[in-house]
Amino acid sequence: MNIVIAVDGPAAAGKGTLAKRLADKYGLAQLDTGLLYRAVGYKVISQGGDPENIEVGEAAARSLDPAELANSSLRTDEAAQAASKVSAIPGVRAALLDFQRNFAANPPALADGSAAKGAILDGRDIGTTVCPDAAAKLFITASTEIRAERRFKELQSRGLGAIYARVLEDMVERDARDSGRSASPLKAADDACILDTSELDADQAFEQSVEFITSKNNF
Ligand code: C5P
Repeated sequence: MNIVIAVDGPAAAGKGTLAKRLADKYGLAQLDTGLLYRAVGYKVISQGGDPENIEVGEAAARSLDPAELANSSLRTDEAAQAASKVSAIPGVRAALLDFQRNFAANPPALADGSAAKGAILDGRDIGTTVCPDAAAKLFITASTEIRAERRFKELQSRGLGAIYARVLEDMVERDARDSGRSASPLKAADDACILDTSELDADQAFEQSVEFITSKNNF
């Protein structure tokens, strides 16, 4: 049986860390879908294009090569902002949908060469749009200030200069765009387990997620 877990939520809520731990525990292949949108946004801006331009964004999404996902520049806030703009274009989302669904249905082998038991995808619309039939859906959130602080520390630890007020401003702007867009806005699926990690550390978020996943019949 191919197990699919959906992990959604706003930026810097802890989705990536949690998805990685769950992937290891359940033997699942992991896809960070934000990276796809970052790669499209980054491609547009690095070619001097406007990430809000529909034709330019769609062309970048259609020509996306998975090899582009390894670029370390995708981790910058500049790429995140561009991602959040291209991701509001319905044609961009449509172009990336097949790749995501195919990953979920036919997950690649794990790093040790063994076959994956399924897939875990993290993003904004996995439980609502990409994998509405996922066996377990988690929606990870935290207060804006806490998420901005985590993001600020992460940028600092990677040696990237950052100003907290600017990180917070970018976060508020990105949240508003991601939640307000008409194409697949950031939203918890009705059957998702909502976890606020403002007061939880990574271990507690992991334990509570495992508890929820275990409560599902498919596991
Ligand atoms: O998760 P991450 O911060 O890397 O995502 C970057 C941007 O990509 C988000 O702000 C959002 O606009 C977009 N995104 C999306 N749908 C997804 C994943 C990411 O629209 N499934």
